[in-house]
Amino acid sequence: MAWFKKDRKPIAQAKEKPSRVPEGLMVKCPGCAQILYHKDLATNQNVCPKCAHHFRIGAAERLRLLFDGSVWQEHDKDLVSTDPLLFVDTKPYAQRLETTIEATGLKDAIIVGSGALDGFETIVAAMEYGFIGGSMGVVVGEKITRGIERALEARCPVVIVCCSGGARMMEGALSLMQMAKICGALGRLDRARLPYISVLTNPTTGGVTASFAMLGDLNIAEPNALIGFAGPRVIEQTIRQKLPAGFQRSEFLLERGMVDLIVDRREMKGLIVSALRFMGAEASESDVAVALADLAAPVAEETGSAQPG
Ligand SMILES: [Zn+2]
Repeated sequence: MAWFKKDRKPIAQAKEKPSRVPEGLMVKCPGCAQILYHKDLATNQNVCPKCAHHFRIGAAERLRLLFDGSVWQEHDKDLVSTDPLLFVDTKPYAQRLETTIEATGLKDAIIVGSGALDGFETIVAAMEYGFIGGSMGVVVGEKITRGIERALEARCPVVIVCCSGGARMMEGALSLMQMAKICGALGRLDRARLPYISVLTNPTTGGVTASFAMLGDLNIAEPNALIGFAGPRVIEQTIRQKLPAGFQRSEFLLERGMVDLIVDRREMKGLIVSALRFMGAEASESDVAVALADLAAPVAEETGSAQPG
């Protein structure tokens, strides 16, 4: 029998008045609590006009903001995971994949495309957080690697926009292998003297941080993005110490030399383009665009499953 027994009822929650504003018309900024029109936010690249809080955006929106005229050629669109471990947690992984594919309209947590960035032919890969937390499984690894190989062949730069909770545990060690695979491909890109720019957005964690996210010739972060390996809560519980304010945020990492720059989303494209120019990327008048178009043709028809390893 319990010594103390609660016999009073908990305080009843005040019932919220039903809102008269239609769902999705307005949004409250988590940065400054300002009520913003969705439409205004969208025209401002999903950055709060009052306090510059960066709202999370999807992979397609990211590519739309970067590529000239929002036009790009998508690569390896139909690659899907084969569920190599036949993994089951709260529900079977195969089923989770199926519902996520239906909800997002994507086959996995990344879109890889080629197109022009202010005239520079570039391969850009953008991760989709809405697809199982932007986690990196065999498909993400394979698509990025193929993207880098395409860049090697066409001799053009690579930009990867990271937004991920890390490696996809439902694919176990196979998803961890992607870290080495992508790093190997980036090594070849480096030896070919081609630029790679990594853009870190909120959040970039786990195996993604521990591999390609930190390997850019230039690592650019969006303001106040969570960037780290293990989450702050896990670290706090492990070392049993309170972490300093702003720990694992872009500004904290910039101060300690973990990232090179913090750039507002509205200036991101301009900065990437000037960096590419500085790094000596070739503009599309060269053979790069032609080479990429040639490469895109046979690959676009390819379907089937990603092979791990
Ligand atoms: Zn705000």
